[in-house]
Amino acid sequence: MFYDVIVVGGGPAGATFARLAGKFARVLLIDGAPLRFGDKGKPCGGLLAPDAQKVLRKSGLSVPEDVLTEPQIDFVKTIDCKSGIIRNYERTYINVSRERFDRWLISLCDEVVTVACGICVNIEKQGDAFYIEYRNGKGEVAAATCRYLVGADGAASVVRRFAFPGAKPRMYTSIQQWFRNKDSAPLYSCIFDESITDCCSWSISKGRYTVFGGAYPMDMPMERFENQKKVLRRFGYILEDPVRTECCLVLRPRAEKDFFLGEDGVFLIGEAAGFVSPSSLEGISYAIKSGEALANALACKAPHKSYRLLTAKIRARLMLKTLKCPFMYYPPLRRFVMKSGIMSAKKDENN
Ligand SMILES: Cc1cc2nc3c(=O)[nH]c(=O)nc-3n(C[C@H](O)[C@H](O)[C@H](O)COP(=O)(O)OP(=O)(O)OC[C@H]3O[C@@H](n4cnc5c(N)ncnc54)[C@H](O)[C@@H]3O)c2cc1C
Repeated sequence: MFYDVIVVGGGPAGATFARLAGKFARVLLIDGAPLRFGDKGKPCGGLLAPDAQKVLRKSGLSVPEDVLTEPQIDFVKTIDCKSGIIRNYERTYINVSRERFDRWLISLCDEVVTVACGICVNIEKQGDAFYIEYRNGKGEVAAATCRYLVGADGAASVVRRFAFPGAKPRMYTSIQQWFRNKDSAPLYSCIFDESITDCCSWSISKGRYTVFGGAYPMDMPMERFENQKKVLRRFGYILEDPVRTECCLVLRPRAEKDFFLGEDGVFLIGEAAGFVSPSSLEGISYAIKSGEALANALACKAPHKSYRLLTAKIRARLMLKTLKCPFMYYPPLRRFVMKSGIMSAKKDENN
């Protein structure tokens, strides 16, 4: 079967792009999420930051109630493990079930797009077209060809590896565990401990569960994760008897070279392109924005050039976030900021 566009990956980036591009092009969306994650969804905190809320509002989309999960979150508790400083910062997040959120976004493209559940296992360039093979849940391999190939397949993108085989974006291993709530207060905490990771860990209340996770350097991530849990006992976190453990890669760009927009008929969007905040690892807003940008670019005469132009703001914003990183990740500076109480909320605790 020949399509104008094949999209690999049905997360926020792929689903957004497909919904919009499906209005003017024949689009096949291949998504492996049900096969890779079952009914659990992609490992994610499932928090829609103010940027993501804004981009959804701008697109005229409001998150359905059955996608939300309790509690809604209006501050971030920030812990610097070494100094013991704790601060709360006001920030409003919409707490969602990531699996239901993705399913909802895909449902919005049902009418204009062919959606296939499968994992892309082979990509070949054949003249001006791309030949794609994907394996479905029964292990059968199907094939399709297209004029444009869109990689919306997240941090470990096969499309990025096909288009840029030598690329080595900065990556971390992200691990999350789910724990049954034991009367704990609703919470989103962000945890800094430079002896464990030069990124961060977090805990998020999610319905009857608390999710604890973090992003760790690629060497010995599980040991780091376990050590972080031990350190957190000092702060009252009892993280025992997980009901689920999940793991995936997460990108953390630090320069323009860490963005991969695509070339020669291949386009990358969302995290596959490197669009994720290096300071907070928030990526849903950038996934949606880049999906929209590519749909607009494909309707133009020079789509690669247009896509570059239309993502200039996203890239600039992410580069600005790298300037914020030292205030969060350079320990002396972070402690100085936290000690000073700048921008922190009144409900601060210090110990
Ligand atoms: C642990 C963790 C917590 C996070 N928490 C948050 C948060 O709270 N808020 C936030 O804004 N961001 C968060 N992020 C970042 C956010 O998850 C990503 O930036 C965002 O999901 C990127 O969206 P995407 O559509 O580009 O890719 P993804 O959401 O990764 O979607 C990619 C899709 O492609 C599919 N896929 C992959 N390979 C193939 C293949 N070969 N064939 C077919 N399909 C394939 C996957 O199954 C998936 O459905 C978190 C990241 C991690 C790792």
